[in-house]
Amino acid sequence: MKRRNFIRTTGAAGLAGVMGLPSCSASLDTEFIILGGGISGLYLAHLLDKAGKDYILVEGSNRLGGRLFTHTDLQNREVGGRGIGDKYVELMKIVNELNVDLVDITDYMRSPTCIYKDGQLQNDWNHSDPNPRMLEYQLPKEGPILSALDEWYQRPDLDRVYSDLLIDRGRTQAEIDIINISANYNDVRETSAINSLHSGAFRKFNGSKRIYNFKDGSKTLIDAIVTTLKGQVSTDKMVTSLTDSGSGVKITCEDGSTYKAAKAISTLPFSTLRDVEMRLSTSVNQKKAIEELKYTLITQIHLKPTSHFWEEDGYHVDMWTDTPLERIMNSSAHPDQYELVCWVNGKGTSFFDNKSDKVIADYTLNKLKEIRPATEGNLEYVGTHNWGEYRYNKGAYAEFGVGQAALFEDMIKPAGNVHFAGEHTARASRGIEGAAESALRVFKELNI
Ligand SMILES: Cc1cc2nc3c(=O)[nH]c(=O)nc-3n(C[C@H](O)[C@H](O)[C@H](O)COP(=O)(O)OP(=O)(O)OC[C@H]3O[C@@H](n4cnc5c(N)ncnc54)[C@H](O)[C@@H]3O)c2cc1C
Repeated sequence: MKRRNFIRTTGAAGLAGVMGLPSCSASLDTEFIILGGGISGLYLAHLLDKAGKDYILVEGSNRLGGRLFTHTDLQNREVGGRGIGDKYVELMKIVNELNVDLVDITDYMRSPTCIYKDGQLQNDWNHSDPNPRMLEYQLPKEGPILSALDEWYQRPDLDRVYSDLLIDRGRTQAEIDIINISANYNDVRETSAINSLHSGAFRKFNGSKRIYNFKDGSKTLIDAIVTTLKGQVSTDKMVTSLTDSGSGVKITCEDGSTYKAAKAISTLPFSTLRDVEMRLSTSVNQKKAIEELKYTLITQIHLKPTSHFWEEDGYHVDMWTDTPLERIMNSSAHPDQYELVCWVNGKGTSFFDNKSDKVIADYTLNKLKEIRPATEGNLEYVGTHNWGEYRYNKGAYAEFGVGQAALFEDMIKPAGNVHFAGEHTARASRGIEGAAESALRVFKELNI
């Protein structure tokens, strides 16, 4: 059968009345259904294209890219992943193949930072003690660390509450409070040490010397991939059910459309997959992971400086605070341009949940005026992106709580005809490279 003939056009009309499950390939819409149009789903589609395979990709939201998100309603700010390293081997393959323009941000990404703490603003925080960045990154000197990138889920000795491990290594409660401001996890007193050590190991062993952003936003990578795809790619297809009959899979979307294929690959974060009604042969551990895997919460409040207020007050632009605004950073990918973002992680995000733009804008501008008077009249509110409230992700990235790393090997195994990709299923890498790595793993699992 010729490749294009294998795919019927849209499943919605043709299959609306078909309630039964696929029993032979003649009744299938395609060979593979990819659930989710983030980088892992799109990269898998790209690999399937290269292998001459048919697929349908369904994406729940009205855009492609997932957590690579150039937000058009927020003045094209990047609200998701953006930093990629020169050793992002898998990701760089496609970046280079499609000639996506990058900008090297290595030399100015670690800007000096001032700190507002206990009612005082100080500029020389980078040299002060305690210094959260130093405290956290010095940790590996003092005890067992991961010696390989894919070791993390095989180290039960390190699978304990991170703050307990820090205390054992001499950190005080006050130091732990400061570390928690910069945490790339929900709470230092809850997350597993293994989660934090793996992300530290990824930064270290991945060995990237140069860090890049996408010159004109992550959307350029997404658009470049999408224009090359040969399969059917549909947005506004929120998957609500996924069934494996043993001889094939069937999905149903919120709009009532259904699709059938020999196999499905879910790239959905477990935080949204758990809302999908599933009839699959998942193992006990896999089911537990789908239901319970934690996700780090992040809320970003984007601001635009209308003048260089930092030249007026002499403090660094970037600022870490012990207020609900947590960190304020310049997120521009270009030197000498300024796009500020208040970056709130973990439990602190609840302070901004269910609040209107007006409430968030008033609070943010007033609080900044209080702690840094030079900001008064020199900042505009751009908008807020709350990853925990964002229906299509319900969190920023997977976070392995205590005991959850032990589920990892089982949770990434295929369940019958359903395979699992996405950043949360990456063995070695994290973030964007992890998502691409997971797509490659599944491509190999498919044995085509
Ligand atoms: C704030 C933030 C900053 C980050 N910074 C970096 C960074 O600097 N460097 C880095 O390497 N990584 C970073 N990351 C992580 C990186 O962005 C992600 O790991 C990567 O983009 C995940 O890709 P994915 O394909 O696995 O998941 P996603 O991009 O989330 O793709 C999954 C897709 O599934 C869709 N979906 C969900 N539910 C359904 C459903 N029921 N039906 C249909 N579709 C559905 C979603 O809309 C989404 O498009 C960051 C992430 C965030 C949130």
